[in-house]
Amino acid sequence: MMTPRIVAGSCDVYEMEPLKRFIAEALARFDASLNNVRVLLKPNLLVGKPAAKAVNTHPVIIEALAEILLDHRCEVFIGDSPGYESTEKALEKSGIMNTAQKLGLKPVLFNKQIKKINNGVSPYHELVLGEDPLEYDAVINLPKLKTHTMMGLTAGVKNTFGFIPSFEKGKWHLRCGKDKHLFAALLIDIHRAVKPALTLLDGILAMDGDGPNHGRPRHAGLIALTNDAFVLDAFLEKMLAFPIATPVTDIAGRAGLLREPELIDLGMPEIKDFRMASTMNIDFNLPSMVRGIARHVFTRKPKCITGKCKLCATCVDVCPAGALSINDKKLIFDYRKCIRCYCCQELCPAGAIVVKTNFEF
Ligand code: SF4
Ligand code: SF4
Repeated sequence: MMTPRIVAGSCDVYEMEPLKRFIAEALARFDASLNNVRVLLKPNLLVGKPAAKAVNTHPVIIEALAEILLDHRCEVFIGDSPGYESTEKALEKSGIMNTAQKLGLKPVLFNKQIKKINNGVSPYHELVLGEDPLEYDAVINLPKLKTHTMMGLTAGVKNTFGFIPSFEKGKWHLRCGKDKHLFAALLIDIHRAVKPALTLLDGILAMDGDGPNHGRPRHAGLIALTNDAFVLDAFLEKMLAFPIATPVTDIAGRAGLLREPELIDLGMPEIKDFRMASTMNIDFNLPSMVRGIARHVFTRKPKCITGKCKLCATCVDVCPAGALSINDKKLIFDYRKCIRCYCCQELCPAGAIVVKTNFEF
């Protein structure tokens, strides 16, 4: 079994030369055999927003890595399944398409239906992926360091949820319902089905607060390469001083997936005052009886800021539970149906949905 290894360093700006230097040095610490092979790059491409918003993996990180791979005669593909837009549109609007065209990377749309038998930590026996990782010699996972209102953190493991085609994502939210640990188990199984050879984290301009789309872009100056995203996520949670493990790390630990990593420190930054998602303080690791009561009292609900809402109905379309409707020019929530997946908050283009407890309404 491969020893988990994390090579982490600091980088303050998105500039090609320092990034290429770091990536080349980090790659040399792994036996990844990335010569003359087909490589699929899987960035975080949640929505088509520019790099300064800190939502997607920065195009310069992609460019730096892709240039190295091309120098090694690799054929390089790039793609993801965004939240609600087409892959092409999100690639264009994020600036990643420019990089792809400049270097001749081949866009992949993640719109296939690839069935995978599953025998992992979740109770689900079949996964349907939008792209087949086995068509490539290596998948390189390129997450962005961000908080996540539902899962606490989106980094290495959560990023491979993008292998689920857009239209299937909501169905999985609905199947898992309010159970974050069940959803975490699903994320773990998807990640193991994709099996990235490497994960390169963009934590230079990160996002804290109520991410992964409407949190606070903030400088963190971190870049890290690993052969094991489970240990990377656990490492990040410690580094960012999360008071409790996120559901993914909790389940990964219980499943025996968290081995002690070898840490190669190439001058890591100190990241201070990283704000967690407001939803993260309660309920993650409580016993199930207490969790039920705590969840009822404290779990945050989505709420619309009427003045910001453009009545575009994106949230109505993405809500997996059918808990949203527009009536009399107002967005209406049916909280009896709502499963607290926060997809509406995540994907509202206007940032008009916030999450609040009963006491804050
Ligand atoms: S997605 Fe946002 S702007 Fe559009 S209807 Fe929903 S709350 Fe309003
Ligand atoms: S209303 Fe929002 S949080 Fe509730 S189920 Fe729908 S998308 Fe999820």
